[in-house]
Amino acid sequence: MATPRKPRRQSRATIAVHGGMAHRGPGSPVAQPLIQSVNYVQDFGTAEGLIYTRYGNTPNAEVVQKRIAMLEGAEASLVFSSGMGATACALLALLRPGDHLVSSSWIYGGTRRFFTEELVAMGIEVSFANPDERRVWRRTMRQNTRVIFVESPVNPTTRVIDLSQLATLAKLQGVALVVDSTVASPINFRPIEHGADVVIHSATKYLNGHHDILCGVVAGTASYIDEVKRKMILWGQAPDPFACWLLERGMKTLAVRVARAGENAMRVAEWCAARKDISKVHYAGLPGHPDNTIAKKMLDGFGGLMAIELAGGADAADCFVRKLRLITHAASLGGVDTLVVEPRYSSHAHLSVAERTAVGIPDGFLRLSIGIEDVDDIIADIEQALQ
Ligand code: PLP
Repeated sequence: MATPRKPRRQSRATIAVHGGMAHRGPGSPVAQPLIQSVNYVQDFGTAEGLIYTRYGNTPNAEVVQKRIAMLEGAEASLVFSSGMGATACALLALLRPGDHLVSSSWIYGGTRRFFTEELVAMGIEVSFANPDERRVWRRTMRQNTRVIFVESPVNPTTRVIDLSQLATLAKLQGVALVVDSTVASPINFRPIEHGADVVIHSATKYLNGHHDILCGVVAGTASYIDEVKRKMILWGQAPDPFACWLLERGMKTLAVRVARAGENAMRVAEWCAARKDISKVHYAGLPGHPDNTIAKKMLDGFGGLMAIELAGGADAADCFVRKLRLITHAASLGGVDTLVVEPRYSSHAHLSVAERTAVGIPDGFLRLSIGIEDVDDIIADIEQALQ
């Protein structure tokens, strides 16, 4: 008798297009319909079912939630009105006053402010660990530590953190390992496969990819996501259906966008590395990058985010951004258009020069989020702006 064939596991490129969508019969729309309603006709005698958009279970939210859970290899996921909303609710569901959070010091500026200004005001202790220091995680842990938080790859320095040892430590100590993997997208990195408990994304970035919505995501176990949902409902962080609809549409091209941005970024990084007026290139795909080996182990691709330091320092950086024609001087990352920012005027503006330098962002540092344009046009723009 023939052995039954195992169903083939769909690739992530296919899940990005179809994941979470119900099978469609004749006459069904091919594109996901937008249901832009705040409230739904309620069944009698029950509080179950579809009631109100802030509860996070509208049809447009559910389809992306299923798709992202499939992409991350998580039991469940939840979509938020921003990445900051996702980070806040993910941590509020894990920490109580008196608890201790250990965070990597290499994190997005907004996340750092949430920890030091909001969590601390709630009576939650926060310590920062420099992942470059040996045995730093174990040394920073306390008896009341409940969460280890890391961002990897790191925005904007492109550093990559090895999760394997961190995951072992977290399991041993019974603490949750939370990873913001916005910069990689689930195409290039799936933290749960490396032992993380919770994954966060600013879906504003690669997941949507078109610079036209703010959204966030948390993925993890179903029971944890239930608790995160409670926080989302009470702190009012649910996304609008139209944002979910755009996110669902944006995700259809996730795999091709991420692949193209990665190929382009590799070419731009190699070109920049050969220039005398660029003193340093930060791109994990380059052999000289401090985390090149770890990145090859952790990631399926190096992504579209890179940074350069101009030999002329802060003045040269100011002049460079003014001269760019194709590349847009704008915040955010992970979209189809190539963008440039000086973190000292954006994500890290609240830090002193010394603090910024200590986290690897000296003056003259420029972050580039490489898009999907023709790479020769991107390079030509950089070349003319350097002149
Ligand atoms: N995490 C990272 C790594 C980010 O870069 C950002 C925003 O830039 C956020 C979280 C916050 O996301 P949002 O702007 O969607 O609230």
